[in-house]
Amino acid sequence: MQPLRPPSSAPDFDFGDGRLSGALSLGLGALSLLAVLCFRYPELLTTPELRAVYPLALVRTALFAAIVLSLGLGALAVLLGERRRLGWGGTACAGAAIALGGSWIESGPVDSSRHHLGLDWFVLDLLVLALVFVPLERAFALARSQRILRFGWRTDLAHFFVSHLLVQVLALLTLAPASLLFGGIVSPRLQAWVAAQPLLLQFVAALAIADLFQYGVHRAFHAVPWLWRFHAIHHSSVAMDWLAGSRLHLVDVIVTRAVTFVPLFVLGFAPSALVAYLVFVAVQAVALHANLRFRFGGLRWIFATPAFHHWHHAVSPVDKNFAIHLPVIDRLFGTAYEPGGFPERYGTLGDPVPEGWVRQLVWPLRRPRAQRGLEKNSPGAGVG
Ligand SMILES: [Zn+2]
Ligand SMILES: [Zn+2]
Repeated sequence: MQPLRPPSSAPDFDFGDGRLSGALSLGLGALSLLAVLCFRYPELLTTPELRAVYPLALVRTALFAAIVLSLGLGALAVLLGERRRLGWGGTACAGAAIALGGSWIESGPVDSSRHHLGLDWFVLDLLVLALVFVPLERAFALARSQRILRFGWRTDLAHFFVSHLLVQVLALLTLAPASLLFGGIVSPRLQAWVAAQPLLLQFVAALAIADLFQYGVHRAFHAVPWLWRFHAIHHSSVAMDWLAGSRLHLVDVIVTRAVTFVPLFVLGFAPSALVAYLVFVAVQAVALHANLRFRFGGLRWIFATPAFHHWHHAVSPVDKNFAIHLPVIDRLFGTAYEPGGFPERYGTLGDPVPEGWVRQLVWPLRRPRAQRGLEKNSPGAGVG
C-alpha cells in the first residue's frame, strides 16, 4: 500500500483548542513513566556509562516537574475540550508514573549487568533534542506549514526508540568487526604516534577519514541494488526535520558504523578524540535533516549543512552529496550538488517504501515483487 503524502499546507497548532497542551501532556507523561521505569529497573533499562555521571538530584527535580506539568497540561486539555483523549492519556501516564514511585522512588546500589537496554538514553536524548530543535524549527522553519507531528513521525520515533534501546548491541556490532578482522594488523607504534598528536588534529583527522569511509559505503548503498533496498528506508522520508534522520534500517546502521569505525580502530585515536568525534556526529546527523532554512554563510564550504544534505534526500537530482561531514569529499569525487536553496520534494519516486517500523524492517528482505516500484527507480535510473 502506498503511503499518503502529507498535505502541502497543514494547519499548525491553534492556541486555545487544547491540542498543544494535550500533546505536551502526553509527551511529558510518557517520558516521566519511562524515567520512573528506569529508576525501578536500572540494571536492565539503563546504560552504565550514563548511570555513572547522572546528577541524580537534578534528574529527580526534572522528573517531578515533568509529572506536575503533564498533570496540569492534561487537565487543561480536557477542560479546553477539542482533544480530550490526549489530555486523558497524558494524565494517565503521569498517574502511572506516580503510582510506580514518582520522583521519590528509591534506587539502591546497582550491580553491573551483562545485558542492558538504553531506555534512559532514549528518554534523555529525545528530551534534549526536542527542547533544542522544536523551538528552533518553529522559529526558523524551512517548510513553515509543516506540523511538529507531521506525516511519518510515528515511524521515525519508532526508529529513534529502537536504535537507542539497542545501544549496547549496536555498539558491539559496530566495534566487533574491526577488532576481529583487523586486530592482527594494527601497529602499536603507529597507534601510539597517532594518540600522541594534539587533540584538535586527531579530531579533524578522525572526522575526515571516517567521512571518507562513510562516503564509500554510502555510495555502495546507492549503487548496489540489494544494498539500496536497505538504504531506501532512510530515503523514504517525505518531510524533513530533526527526527527524520532516525529513519534508518538496522542493517544500514550496523554496516555503515562498522565500516566507518575500521580506520578509527586501526589508527588508534585517543579516546577523548573519539568521544569528541562521536558527539559531533550525533549533533550533526540530527541537524542535517532539520527543518531549518539556515544557510550557515561561509561555514557551508567547510561543513555539511541542512541544505547540503537535504539535496541528498531530493527526489531529483539523485546520487548527490554523499558526505555527512565534509562537502569537499563530494567536490573531489564529482558528486557535489550545491545550487543554493532547498529541494521542493523529498523521497523516492513512486513512494514504494511502506510506513511503519516493522514493515520497514522486513520490506528490504522481501522478494523483488514487493519492491517492483523501487527496482524501476533504482539509483542511476531516477531515485535519490
Ligand atoms: Zn543516501
Ligand atoms: Zn539523511
